[in-house]
Amino acid sequence: MKRILITGAAGFLGSHLCDKFISEGFYVIGMDNFITGDKKNITHLLQNENFQFIEHDVTEFVKIEGDLDYILHFASPASPIDYLKIPIQTLKVGSLGTHNLLGLAKAKKARILIASTSEVYGDPLVHPQDENYYGNVNTIGPRGVYDEAKRFQESITMAYHRFHGLETRIVRIFNTYGPRMRLNDGRVIPAFMGQALRGENLTVFGDGSQTRSFCYVDDQVDGIFKLLFSDYSYPVNIGNPHEITIKDFAEEIIKLTETDQKIVYKELPKDDPLQRQPNISLAKKLLGWEPKVDREEGMKKTFNYFKSLSYDELRKSE
Ligand code: NAD
Ligand code: UDP
Repeated sequence: MKRILITGAAGFLGSHLCDKFISEGFYVIGMDNFITGDKKNITHLLQNENFQFIEHDVTEFVKIEGDLDYILHFASPASPIDYLKIPIQTLKVGSLGTHNLLGLAKAKKARILIASTSEVYGDPLVHPQDENYYGNVNTIGPRGVYDEAKRFQESITMAYHRFHGLETRIVRIFNTYGPRMRLNDGRVIPAFMGQALRGENLTVFGDGSQTRSFCYVDDQVDGIFKLLFSDYSYPVNIGNPHEITIKDFAEEIIKLTETDQKIVYKELPKDDPLQRQPNISLAKKLLGWEPKVDREEGMKKTFNYFKSLSYDELRKSE
């Protein structure tokens, strides 16, 4: 049985990846320190004989008993309000944490895939963004702690690949959504859905003309799985190219949730990218991958998840 370590296992993407690898017949070791994750995302796995959980902060030395074939490094705060609240931890997990996991991969002769992000493109001057674009990031702005941690993460990963011959993979993830996102993580989908469910107006930042392109979690997980087993060491964009303005998206959510709430406009956060859309030609060619779930279907599934949360959970997230 192949053994895989998944960091950030109690988070949104990490927990779905644990499910995927278990269902594909792997022995999964999940690691997390719960700084932005939630135990309840992995409770269903705790009795599974092919799953083991280790509570650990990956910025400290990471020790694993026995062999390891693969590592997926997904530990990191991922939403703007999280990394603005814990900027130093965000920088540390992208830098020191990644260094520890690369060292572990080298010691175990394991293949490692690291979770990078469309944020390496910053507020992009090229549209849509392909992997050859170097990006437009404000190093000292409030989002810089995340963007630069991820850019460093890519650099050190390539250095381990080139210098130590380590087998590395880099996924540049574009906005992904689905069940198990934290209602109060501040990202636009949980924010709008929480507001609709609590009977509050939907807060659009700026004039809502900024765009994003949303990928359903099952498609993202499928793309990551295929990338891990490819033989390509350079970054690959995985996301859904279907682009929408945030204002139109708020209107879509008002319709889907059948709320009679209105849109209210708030100040646009500093350095909020004006446009974002992945060019996924490389993933299509290399992995034969493209997203299958359209926004209507994905949003319905996501809304059903948020609707199933208890009254207390909904209030807790205000
Ligand atoms: P999340 O906050 O739900 O999950 C991150 C997990 O990492 C949490 O469970 C958290 O407790 C854990 N973690 C953070 N620091 C840690 C540390 N020092 N030691 C151990 N565990 C730690 O976020 P997510 O959306 O699941 O994102 C997962 C990864 O994917 C992140 O690396 C993120 O940058 C990347 N990513 C996500 C998206 C997206 O749209 N969801 C987009 C781009 C990149
Ligand atoms: N956004 C918004 N209202 C909210 C939360 C977010 O208008 O309550 C906007 C935010 O300014 C950004 C977009 O939605 O333009 C996506 O934000 P998110 O935090 O989900 O992701 P990111 O900016 O990292 O792509």
